[in-house]
Amino acid sequence: MKKLAVRNLRLCTKDCLCLYVCPVGATDTENSVIDKEKCTGCGVCAQACPSGAISMVPLEYPPQQQKAETVLTASRAVCQNKAGQEGIARQLAEETEDDALYRLMSAAAKSIRLVHEDLSRESGYMLPQSKNARERLQGWIQEPPAPDFPREAAQELLDRIPCNES
Ligand code: SF4
Ligand code: SF4
Repeated sequence: MKKLAVRNLRLCTKDCLCLYVCPVGATDTENSVIDKEKCTGCGVCAQACPSGAISMVPLEYPPQQQKAETVLTASRAVCQNKAGQEGIARQLAEETEDDALYRLMSAAAKSIRLVHEDLSRESGYMLPQSKNARERLQGWIQEPPAPDFPREAAQELLDRIPCNES
């Protein structure tokens, strides 16, 4: 299966080891881009990176695993619960004038969001190539769930990553 190197900018410390080891000059640490046309998927940069910032990802993802309806129903219920918890944390952060409480609630909101994202992935909604995630994104492009929903970015994601389920 053909793979490509992908860099996580949040982990990259720009020490440029990937730049030195790449045999085809595919990685650029100035603009942080790994050129997918040049990358051969050899994986040398991922092995060399001291920060674990590079992952090798398949060019084409396999279909999602099928999950039992009971598992999906439970996952969705917990997701719904997490969305409510995040909303409460955000509201408390917005309303307080206490700086410590603001920081605590902002951190709690982010932490809850991460758990929610993991749960959503387990429910099969975080892979842009999957049919259900694409339908969800298309619905949000037509009716954004929030005023700052990035419609253009969502559309670009759909345009760039083909659906791998019939
Ligand atoms: S080796 Fe890893 S940490 Fe260093 S520049 Fe490359 S991606 Fe960033
Ligand atoms: S996987 Fe190989 S070819 Fe691709 S960027 Fe890393 S070192 Fe270069």
